[in-house]
Amino acid sequence: MTNDIRRILVVGASLAGARAAQNLRVEGFEGELTLVGSEARLPYDRPPLSKGILSGETDAESLTLNPASTYASASIELLLGEPASQLNTAKQTLTVGGEQLSYDALIIATGATPRKLSGIPQISGVEVLRTIDDALAIKSRLQKDAHVIVIGAGFIGSEVASSATRQGCHTTVVEAAATPLTRGLGAQMGKICGDLHSTNQVTLLTGTTVQRVIGNEQVEAVLLSNGLTLPADLVVVGIGVEPCTNWLTNSGLEISDGIVCNQYLNAGAPGVYAIGDVAKVPNQWTGEEPKRFEHWTAATEQAMLVAKNLLNPDAATPYNSVPFVWSDQYGSRIQIAGNPQGTDQAQVLVGSTASNSFVAGYRSSERLTGVMALNSIKPFVQYRRLLMNHGSWADAIELAKSMNE
Ligand SMILES: Cc1cc2nc3c(=O)[nH]c(=O)nc-3n(C[C@H](O)[C@H](O)[C@H](O)COP(=O)(O)OP(=O)(O)OC[C@H]3O[C@@H](n4cnc5c(N)ncnc54)[C@H](O)[C@@H]3O)c2cc1C
Repeated sequence: MTNDIRRILVVGASLAGARAAQNLRVEGFEGELTLVGSEARLPYDRPPLSKGILSGETDAESLTLNPASTYASASIELLLGEPASQLNTAKQTLTVGGEQLSYDALIIATGATPRKLSGIPQISGVEVLRTIDDALAIKSRLQKDAHVIVIGAGFIGSEVASSATRQGCHTTVVEAAATPLTRGLGAQMGKICGDLHSTNQVTLLTGTTVQRVIGNEQVEAVLLSNGLTLPADLVVVGIGVEPCTNWLTNSGLEISDGIVCNQYLNAGAPGVYAIGDVAKVPNQWTGEEPKRFEHWTAATEQAMLVAKNLLNPDAATPYNSVPFVWSDQYGSRIQIAGNPQGTDQAQVLVGSTASNSFVAGYRSSERLTGVMALNSIKPFVQYRRLLMNHGSWADAIELAKSMNE
């Protein structure tokens, strides 16, 4: 371990940042360690925001990753409720609340923030979903018979729609593309995901955009590109996220839809690393250009790797992981592993679409590029393992044979 690192700052006190700080202690770092976060809350978990919190099954307190005592006993100083506003990589200082903190090493884990839809007024009842406060604001409007419009049929929008319909809301999902999720999953599997809405009494309008949100102080209706005007008590905009990098202007770091890192998660300045949703990282497994992985598992894995690489740069190992994400909607679980492209050929390998329980493989020539499972957790685990071992398409067929026997 390098002995010249006495003070490490971690910016962004959520999943990636909190786990990185804890992992630095696990890896034996004994110097000063401070976790800086703009939210006033203790670090918490976000996936339940669109699931258990909105459906009322989970309370906000239970999302806290660790109690304050865990950080105290690991001598992790928490500096919460104030964002970092500037980074000077030459002087090795970070500005927080007008104060300059010096560092020997810095981990940036500032995550992402919901993309705004241009022309939509910020009036009451128009919400995005990223924080506990966002979730509680949405939840308070999920009253029986309320009219809910969700813009965007991605995973978060779909989970919001699922939770809204469970609360007895009249729910419509408005999606600009002809089929949801086509870029990542292709039209065939995208349609199957989209059909979950219609089979659960949620209207899915594809090839449609919102032209105008109507209302003065409170949202009243939305005007759609197909000419329809729908009543609305709540509009949730779920059209993706943008990395939180605005505060890094003039830092000298390369920013291009995220903080551009090398395969060791180093952000291009000595001792500066980036992880989680904000980091654009090459992944040895996908073998592609640097990419942001907006997934819970990627944030957790990178938080482990960064602690090792930062403390032992001479023995640094590259980021090498099978991307994995899940989504829970309408009582169904969707799981995706690997790097499927919408243009890859999709084929059901195990189970059937008719039974709403299957694993589909994605094929590009003789390669297995990824899998998507619907309500098929055990077979999915085996396919995820096959992907970790770089199994081929032929291996995927063999595995299917053994499972279907
Ligand atoms: C509603 C919802 C549901 C999700 N469901 C799933 C799921 O089912 N499966 C899955 O795989 N993934 C899911 N995700 C994604 C997953 O939660 C994220 O990938 C994960 O939270 C990323 O962690 P992070 O720490 O990198 O970023 P974030 O969780 O975004 O945390 C970044 C933190 O940094 C803070 N910050 C930003 N700027 C500054 C600054 N300048 N100074 C200090 N602090 C700053 C932010 O306030 C935030 O607290 C979901 C996300 C959401 C929002």
